[in-house]
Amino acid sequence: MSVSIDLSGKVALVTGASRGIGRMIALRFAQAGAAVAVLATSEDRARPVVDEITQAGGKALALGADVADAAQATAAVERTVKELGALHVVVNNAGITKDGLFVRMSEEDFMRVVDVNLKGTFNVCKAASRGLLKTAGARIINVTSIVGLTGNAGQANYAAAKAGLVGFTKSLAREFGGRGVTVNAIAPGFITTDMTSDLPEAVKQSSLAAIPLARFGTAEDIADAALFLASERAGYITGHTLVVDGGMSL
Ligand code: NAP
Repeated sequence: MSVSIDLSGKVALVTGASRGIGRMIALRFAQAGAAVAVLATSEDRARPVVDEITQAGGKALALGADVADAAQATAAVERTVKELGALHVVVNNAGITKDGLFVRMSEEDFMRVVDVNLKGTFNVCKAASRGLLKTAGARIINVTSIVGLTGNAGQANYAAAKAGLVGFTKSLAREFGGRGVTVNAIAPGFITTDMTSDLPEAVKQSSLAAIPLARFGTAEDIADAALFLASERAGYITGHTLVVDGGMSL
């Protein structure tokens, strides 16, 4: 007898799904049978992932929105429900960095990172929660970072936003638990994507040296964790932050 994860009949919305971690989560969910709303900053940027899913026989919808904008986030959630018929799983993965040492960090760079990474998650959850609370077995998964747990020089804005997501996740888990909705977070370590590709080689090498499993993470590593948390197999896990970092934050 084999045990596999089946999301057929489920509808998932994945933000920041045009590339990197979000793209792989969208593909994994589609492979498991879910219909997936693929959200990026524009529909055009989301479309290649939608095409990838539909060409493999799956169902997907391209959405363009700045998650930091409440009206755009709400419209994206509403289109998902209208065009895919329901919403069972929300993955808040859209994120940006604007790194710099604190003494040189502008208020603008601080606020934009908080607005996309933290308020964007608030906006999408706000728009989706009324429906999710009426949906048995609904799931919210927020992508934070180990930096939100450990802090990081040069990332005061990003670490604050990601730490905020941990408290936000726990609070929603407490509020939504009575309706059977689980709310969890994933804290990736150093994952090979566009976000990390431009880091100086010295930073990459010192990061690698700090990873007990002796390799950088992949988008697949995070997508597999998201797939588990989205599934019925994770039904008794809520308010948890699942660290997926090869041991980097130990
Ligand atoms: P990425 O490759 O840079 O992709 C970022 C994604 O977010 C893209 O799909 C982008 O869409 C979307 N996005 C950016 N701003 C947005 C906005 N205002 N509204 C809607 N979508 C927006 O990033 P990644 O490395 O896959 O990271 C994904 C998540 O994991 C982020 O939350 C990040 O903080 C977190 N994370 C990453 C790492 C890592 O090492 N890579 C580690 C820990 C945590 P467009 O293509 O349209 O720009």
